[in-house]
Amino acid sequence: MQIIQSGKELEIYIASLKKSGKTIGLVPTMGALHPGHISLLKRAKMENDIVVTSIFVNRIQFNNPEDFRLYPRTPSKDLQILEEHKSDIVFTPGEEDLYENMESINPDLGILGQIMEARFRPGHFEGVAKIVYTLFRLVNPDKAYFGQKDLQQCKVIETLTTQYQFPVQIVICPVIRENDGLAMSSRNLRLSPEYRSLANRIITVLNYAGDMIQLGESIEYTKKKTTDFMAKFPAFQLEYFEIADAETLHPLSVVSSGQSIALCIAVYLENIRLIDNIIIIS
Ligand code: AMP
Repeated sequence: MQIIQSGKELEIYIASLKKSGKTIGLVPTMGALHPGHISLLKRAKMENDIVVTSIFVNRIQFNNPEDFRLYPRTPSKDLQILEEHKSDIVFTPGEEDLYENMESINPDLGILGQIMEARFRPGHFEGVAKIVYTLFRLVNPDKAYFGQKDLQQCKVIETLTTQYQFPVQIVICPVIRENDGLAMSSRNLRLSPEYRSLANRIITVLNYAGDMIQLGESIEYTKKKTTDFMAKFPAFQLEYFEIADAETLHPLSVVSSGQSIALCIAVYLENIRLIDNIIIIS
């Protein structure tokens, strides 16, 4: 496994690999790696000659400086995990290196730039778009791997890819969960045991809402029931619960039969922001 810190060095090295006909898969992460990240790496290993995993806690995508400061960082454990799972290259740039090379892009995110995550985390997707744009420019991957856990982010990256015509295939991988159903996330490390034991209510409420839609309940009624259910648990502060078309993420007010629907939630638990989603067919 090769560890590269300089963007320039990475760019030159990858260009030489591509010249010799190798296909490149990219797995962008912010570290504190868990099995969710590893599932992306495994898929990338199956589908490419060379896999680049990047680790960079991207300050400019954090709308809350405290969240950036407290974001878990486990660099030596991450390298150990990546070695074990045979990432060919690990890219661990410093801020100066990456931000110096960053172009000031301004993608048109349409409604994706206004709803859910974008509404509650102003500037977040602009920061995500800039780092992914920079990584795509440096790595020029054939395929790039992202988790459905961050569904809106996946859609933003698809939009970015189309708008800037990157010749990369975006591969969206399923949500990996803990045994109790909690979506794996680096932020889970910050939950105390007491609050961690409550956190599976998030998937419970998503499944409950999904069942209601599949049984023919209206969107309005399902949203109200879900909000009421969450309000029963004062440990949780619900930020949003949205029912949207799974392709476009347009919020829905009615459901047509056979439609693919995303149920998306963001909550605070112990001041830690957790997001999750499920996709169902109505
Ligand atoms: P992060 O390090 O949180 O920025 O995540 C890096 C990538 O891993 C993103 O594409 C995430 O969507 C993906 N990811 C994070 N958690 C999970 C999970 N539980 N299951 C699948 N993919 C995940």
